[in-house]
Amino acid sequence: MFPFTIMGQVSMKAMVHKTGTEGQWLVQEEVDIAEPGEHEVLVRVGACGVCRTDLHIVEEDLPPLSDAIVPGHEIIGTVERAGKAVSRFAAGDTAGIMWLHAACGRCDYCISGRENLCPQKVFTGYSVNGGYAEYALGREEYMLPVPAGLAPEKAAPLMCSGIIGYRALKLALPGPAGRLGIFGFGGSAHLTVQLAAGMGMDVCVVSRSEEHLKLASQLGASETIQSGVTGLAGLTEKFDSAIVFAPSGNVVKQALESIRPGGKVAVPAVHLDRLPEMDYNGHLFNEKKLFSVEANTRADAKEFLEMALRLGLRSEVEVLPFDRANTALEKLKHSAVNGAVVLRIT
Ligand SMILES: [Zn+2]
Ligand SMILES: [Zn+2]
Repeated sequence: MFPFTIMGQVSMKAMVHKTGTEGQWLVQEEVDIAEPGEHEVLVRVGACGVCRTDLHIVEEDLPPLSDAIVPGHEIIGTVERAGKAVSRFAAGDTAGIMWLHAACGRCDYCISGRENLCPQKVFTGYSVNGGYAEYALGREEYMLPVPAGLAPEKAAPLMCSGIIGYRALKLALPGPAGRLGIFGFGGSAHLTVQLAAGMGMDVCVVSRSEEHLKLASQLGASETIQSGVTGLAGLTEKFDSAIVFAPSGNVVKQALESIRPGGKVAVPAVHLDRLPEMDYNGHLFNEKKLFSVEANTRADAKEFLEMALRLGLRSEVEVLPFDRANTALEKLKHSAVNGAVVLRIT
């Protein structure tokens, strides 16, 4: 078979995680450019967001699925070439590739609008190579058309951080004028606070970092609590619902203590350290509900993007060059980012 070429280029730069190489998350390598299959689309990556899930992949908290993987699933790019059967995208279009790369389309989850739970689902940057590279492949039906006017580095965090926050909010249902608690404040939370405030909710952000709380107030939080200093002592009124973005079981416990009877706690984390022992009466009784949020459906993505554009959601991003992906992950690990961190690729 002839190698696939773009303007004579057969390979591309990519940041690769090799399984089992402890202490070295990513190395830069030349990787073959994949040829799009019938229903696939090859995009030239403009920017790729760095999501906490990527950190769990390179630290192998999530079990590795192959010997080597290119992470990255918040991809904004320009369509370079589309497979023969592709009808939704053409060369030059702006497109987003998300965490849910594909699902089977036939199982009971897929046909009931819950493709995020499909047992055969495939993830971008985990099951298949992702966007820490010059080019990435997407599956036409699972890609999102994106307005061309959006700056790639501003749009990238919407592709996972934004959508998962939207799904958590949709499932936590605090009501249009409800009171929402947001625990932890990173890439996803900084978009969710704007979304919830824009929808008319009363939002309180709980975080250890003063810098994070300052940004939360600027983006629409009506109340902030610095948890490291006072715990939840400053909480004036309990929440109708809470979303826990901090990947910590102790924070989940704290969130369950902060909601009213009948309240819900959503945990949109792909990995959590551990759940501490809890007290049934104190944490779950009174019809409190605790649930996880996994990935997203295509409907979530579409609904969220429309809403983000309508409400004028603003991504606060720190942009780093592609070859500093390890630094970006390091910053994420130590909560040294206020907002989201994004790699500028091309
Ligand atoms: Zn993600
Ligand atoms: Zn399925």
